[in-house]
Amino acid sequence: MASPEVREEAIVLKKTKLAESDLILHLLVNDGSCERVVAKGARKPTNASSATLDLFNCVTLTIVGGKGLGIAKGSKLQEHHDELLIDPLRFAAASVMAELVDAVIQPDLPVPRLFDMVRTALFQVAKAPEDALPLVVAAFAFKLTALIGMRPSFAACACCGAPVGMRGGSVRFSYADGGAACAACATDMDTVGVSQATLALCDSLLHSTFADIAQMDPTSSAWDAASVAEMWALRQTGARLRSFSAFKTLSGCLQAASVI
Ligand SMILES: [Zn+2]
Repeated sequence: MASPEVREEAIVLKKTKLAESDLILHLLVNDGSCERVVAKGARKPTNASSATLDLFNCVTLTIVGGKGLGIAKGSKLQEHHDELLIDPLRFAAASVMAELVDAVIQPDLPVPRLFDMVRTALFQVAKAPEDALPLVVAAFAFKLTALIGMRPSFAACACCGAPVGMRGGSVRFSYADGGAACAACATDMDTVGVSQATLALCDSLLHSTFADIAQMDPTSSAWDAASVAEMWALRQTGARLRSFSAFKTLSGCLQAASVI
């Protein structure tokens, strides 16, 4: 009996080497679930699919072998952004998003709207001003966790719902218990102090479109919001994002180089 064949629209999140010339592809497929496939011969420079299967590409794949580790038989490129592969900072930002998605998606467990969100976010990482990249990445982490049921609360106490205010100063914030905490609830929660300006920015990122975030004015709080996002993603998903450290380090190096 012939092996089952399916056609999937997918985004390439990760590639790992297999044998001499093959790859295992970690894919986000159109329904928001994960699929892993073997791409035979994909590491050979002469292989027609090697460029099609670049990281962050959106492709249409024919997969043979059904569920489990199928074989990618044919691929067609749907969307590719040169900037994500040739610009180190954009590559690092896209890597954070891909690593986070790869850590949370599962086979046969669709996450509605995730595919379109990743596609939109990758487009903005490719095109947005470099100053906006930490904002886009932070927004992505907040929106992704919201999509899988762990929406952070920035403007109201995560415990009782009381407004925490968005004026100057510091707010108690609990990474373990859902977000901001009012003074009364904070006594029973494991909290840290976060500036209200940073939380107001985080709240704005959660509620803004990626296109609007890409147009936001540069702000000194951008990396503070990114740090909140990194810690939030770690606590909610357990994903210790190595790519986030690389993104921060590379950004710091580039900023240092620009002032020499
Ligand atoms: Zn409260």
